[in-house]
Amino acid sequence: MKQLQKTVLIALLIGVVFTEKASAVTDRLVFPVLADNHSITQNSEDPRNYGWFVNSQNGFGGNFPDNPVAGPGFPFHPAEDWNRTDGRDNNGNEPVYAIGNGIIARVTSNNPNYGGAVLVRYELAQEIDFTPYFLPNTTVKELYRRGRYIIGDYIHIAPDVNLRVGQQVILGQNLGTILPDFGYRHLHFEIMVDPNGNSFATTARNGVGYYESQQKITEDGYIDPTRFILG
Ligand SMILES: [Zn+2]
Repeated sequence: MKQLQKTVLIALLIGVVFTEKASAVTDRLVFPVLADNHSITQNSEDPRNYGWFVNSQNGFGGNFPDNPVAGPGFPFHPAEDWNRTDGRDNNGNEPVYAIGNGIIARVTSNNPNYGGAVLVRYELAQEIDFTPYFLPNTTVKELYRRGRYIIGDYIHIAPDVNLRVGQQVILGQNLGTILPDFGYRHLHFEIMVDPNGNSFATTARNGVGYYESQQKITEDGYIDPTRFILG
């Protein structure tokens, strides 16, 4: 009898593990910001057509040599900074969304350097070739060329207070809002290839989200968010 109970218990536990895994996989991606009057089902369209803006200096791989935050020698941006259409850092309280089904890997609030952030691990429904989504004219490590795991990092946000590490989120779920009172009132959004499905986001070399070269951005596994979401 004891043995039977044990077997049932193990079967139940295995069932739970598989159930969680299955529902965390994502077969579709959407954008992390959404225009007014658009439903989440329309969010796979580029938000730049609907009231959002990414400027060239703070786009993916952008070069911002006089950036007062990053300091000299770290001008390259591994992410996209999402602003409303005027392109200025005057956003505040706009919701940001899970780009797919995923698992919360880190939640940070009240950080003196970047405000707050949510890091989400996403498992894609199938293995894909990431190579086309890296910065052009850079060399991609073999480790990052193929796989099915990515990390999305949402920075300068106030995370939803109910988020917990290990929790599942679904595509389009509200993860928090852009901080209205922090020095950088936009969403800094990064996507990295996660070769093993269990690594944490790397921290940019100067610690404030900028790199010394585009090659270093590629070496840490960053891919172009918009091009990747659009597929
Ligand atoms: Zn940024």
